[in-house]
Amino acid sequence: MKKCCMTLLALGLVAPGALVAQSASPSETASPVGTLDAADRAAVERLGGQLMLAGKAYEYDRMLADEIGPRLTGSANYVKAAEWATEEFKRLGLSHVHREPWEIAATWEPETFATASILAPHAQRLHLESDGWSPSTPPGGVRGKVFYLNALTEDAVKANAAQIRDMIVLLDGESLKAAGPLEFGKLLDTIALVGAEGARGLLMGLGDVNNISAELGVTCCNGAVSHLPTADVGREDTLLLRRLLAHGPVEVEFSFANRVREHVKVDNVVAEIPGTDASGEYVVIGGHLDSWHLGTGAEDNGTGAASVLAVAQAVMAGGVKPRRTLRFVLFGGEEEGLLGSIHYARDHAAEMDKCAGVFITDTGSEPPQGWYVFGRDDEKKALGAITPELESLGAVGTTDEGRFAFSTDHGPFLIHGVPSFVLWTPLEKYFGLHHKPSDTFDKVNQRDLNLGAAVVGVTALAFADAPQAMRHLTTAEMEEQLKKIKAFDEYSDMKTHNMF
Ligand SMILES: [Zn+2]
Repeated sequence: MKKCCMTLLALGLVAPGALVAQSASPSETASPVGTLDAADRAAVERLGGQLMLAGKAYEYDRMLADEIGPRLTGSANYVKAAEWATEEFKRLGLSHVHREPWEIAATWEPETFATASILAPHAQRLHLESDGWSPSTPPGGVRGKVFYLNALTEDAVKANAAQIRDMIVLLDGESLKAAGPLEFGKLLDTIALVGAEGARGLLMGLGDVNNISAELGVTCCNGAVSHLPTADVGREDTLLLRRLLAHGPVEVEFSFANRVREHVKVDNVVAEIPGTDASGEYVVIGGHLDSWHLGTGAEDNGTGAASVLAVAQAVMAGGVKPRRTLRFVLFGGEEEGLLGSIHYARDHAAEMDKCAGVFITDTGSEPPQGWYVFGRDDEKKALGAITPELESLGAVGTTDEGRFAFSTDHGPFLIHGVPSFVLWTPLEKYFGLHHKPSDTFDKVNQRDLNLGAAVVGVTALAFADAPQAMRHLTTAEMEEQLKKIKAFDEYSDMKTHNMF
């Protein structure tokens, strides 16, 4: 997820925790998409069986994670992954297989892994890595005394301006908690303010697991490189720095080099299985292809990208002819703020009214519980058309949880009023791996991945075959929906920062 892949999550603003089911099962009332006829229901069920028993998601994820490796947006590995996915869609026999380029302000890749240590009161190594889209440290590294900022707010930065100047500023989970709800753009603005007040560097101690730099996120909006060298510090090191600071001055140094290229074309990968009717309507089955680089992005989001390919493979293998077109999209730049899907939605705005639904997966391989529906009761009712099939997969639930309303690639569709669905799974395992060196293929559970891919395939095909397409929300309705699920401030923040 972005901000999870969800950058807000990456930056630790949202504590992992149990989500609450908003409804145990879809409503009993009539589905707004109508009832599947027997032949369509049989096709949906065959597809689910194919994905469960002979699905290719596990093998696709192995190829992405182990053979291609980490896939930072615009990197050589990302290009390789986009080429590989393109060739695979072609080999499977899909139509209109192509790549759609968009431009990122800058690509970013570590040139060296970081070195870092405490210099005083005693010498000790620190576990630290550069944050995403941070500039390199100056030659010789950043060296200075540490100042702990206890609240990441504009007021606190200004009130502490004298202490921040020429210091290395440390933030941790408590500093963010003290700031209250911070949207993505506002968070990055406040971090930029720390740099503007003359800090030499920024240490983010947001990790919740053992001493690894763990919570990579971007440090600047819209794919641009930030101005202040910013690093993630391991949890135990952060706690040590806090304890040492309680007893006197602490001096640290850190050093890393990052390679930046400006104005780079990045490709989304698109392929279709054409629908049989002439309405021009389509459903999107998507996920992000990019990942962070400390691990291999097997769970964030190798599982999602692999599920997209696996659904395409299973539909082709079963000779299924959907009523509406199935459009498969692998996005880049998700981790930098949904950049690939934002560009996609802009480029396809003229045909957005034909989009009968978007189905995204981005939370790794855990047993699916159902779908995030972001406050749309009509989506819950529409899912009622396939209650027996979703029940058999253990995934008949829905949640209105709003924290993830803009955390992955459905967001740019949701703001167009498109019926938007994100696979809903537990998150405990995911957040233990997400953006960390431990996000590797050995963590992927084949059964759970197949279950997730089956839920995606079954639901997307049911919406493609349904007698009616779901209606789109008007902008006013969409904004009301976001208020209802407490996601309106994040939407406003993204608009303010020219993301939407
Ligand atoms: Zn992700």
